[in-house]
Amino acid sequence: MKDDFSIKGEVIGALEGVEDPQAGDNIVNTHLVEQVEVKQGVAEIILVMSADRDRKERFAIEDAVYDAVEGIGGVREVKVQTMTRQALEREARGEKPAPVPGPSPSAKPPGGPGQKPGPSGGGGMPPSAPIEGVGRVIAVASGKGGVGKSTVAVNLALALQKLDYRVGVLDIDIYGPSLPTLLGVAGRPAVSNRRILPIEASGLRIMSLGFLMEEDSPVIWRGPIVTGIIRQFLRDVDWSGLDYLIIDMPPGTGDAQLALAQTVPVDGALVVTTPSDLALLDAARGLQMFKTLNVEVMGIVTNMARFVVPSSGEEFFIFGKPEEVAKEAKRLETTVLGEIPLDTEVRRGGDEGQPVVLADPESPVSQAFIDLAKSVAAAQPVGAEGGQEEGAKKGLFSFLKS
Ligand code: ADP
Repeated sequence: MKDDFSIKGEVIGALEGVEDPQAGDNIVNTHLVEQVEVKQGVAEIILVMSADRDRKERFAIEDAVYDAVEGIGGVREVKVQTMTRQALEREARGEKPAPVPGPSPSAKPPGGPGQKPGPSGGGGMPPSAPIEGVGRVIAVASGKGGVGKSTVAVNLALALQKLDYRVGVLDIDIYGPSLPTLLGVAGRPAVSNRRILPIEASGLRIMSLGFLMEEDSPVIWRGPIVTGIIRQFLRDVDWSGLDYLIIDMPPGTGDAQLALAQTVPVDGALVVTTPSDLALLDAARGLQMFKTLNVEVMGIVTNMARFVVPSSGEEFFIFGKPEEVAKEAKRLETTVLGEIPLDTEVRRGGDEGQPVVLADPESPVSQAFIDLAKSVAAAQPVGAEGGQEEGAKKGLFSFLKS
């Protein structure tokens, strides 16, 4: 049998046969191949491409890499991950914690205590069933677009990770999946043993509709297609070994929300809103929808709650006063679970693929995300018996560390 080292040599040789159409040379010579590793016949290849490279071209290169490597004797499996240089450098600076391990025996079995039964499918759909190996499923929703839902979802996920939880993010925002941009990750998920493998970025396991879409091409997905994709993302992706799976929902109340609630039991939902009247009105609708779907609304997150002038500490309430949200929350019989200030670093971090909780973890706005994560973990604890009893473990994996 061939050893991994000699297989690696053959893999690199095969990659030298894949052309980079932009340069008219092979992808090894043009430095698109960042890393090749072979372990027990599993070839893992990291490619580096700029975020603005044409998607079709990227997909064609990835396909050619699969084709070139799959046929090599001794290769059992091929994993290809494409990243931006920026994301790679972030990892090199040690900002990425240890890779998320594969399926773990400590992960909860299906039907474990972490997940409650949800609404049954109905309409010929299979009944809702928990995701194997996932502690809690938390939906981050909003009544309307542009209130910072995706920003909250990704920073909340990173904040939970800072609290030592294993976290995944699933982006099913059919109108504008933004997770790849927010985390500076490009790539196409690999498939292994008929399971889709989430992409790993900044220690999170992530999956996004954005990985499947052509850039800049408006996609209008209608009911059954949305439902099918969401089901596949929940059922066919290997999410095992997570404490929390955060779902970045599309705004509003539509097919996606229904599909989610009918596919898996959702442990809790957060509704993100700005303090403006209009956003609040839509948030109330979102809240009502979750109640109808039998999903527990954990609370409202007020985003862009206030702007604090860094030099003077003076506060401005650009979208309205957060007290208005608190009043509305009371009327809707829920609470405000977190308040995130308006901060240019949040916007910049989102644009540059470097969320603020990673870029500046000590800043007040990151602290607000960490406080929100603590509230989420307290409301939806993971661990023995769903962590309902006192002294529950911090995370499914925490006992390994103690
Ligand atoms: P949604 O998912 O609700 O459509 P996004 O998360 O994409 O909203 O955010 C919309 C825009 O607002 C983005 O440019 C994002 O960087 C910015 N943004 C979100 N939250 C904040 C905040 N707290 N401070 C400053 N900018 C923010």
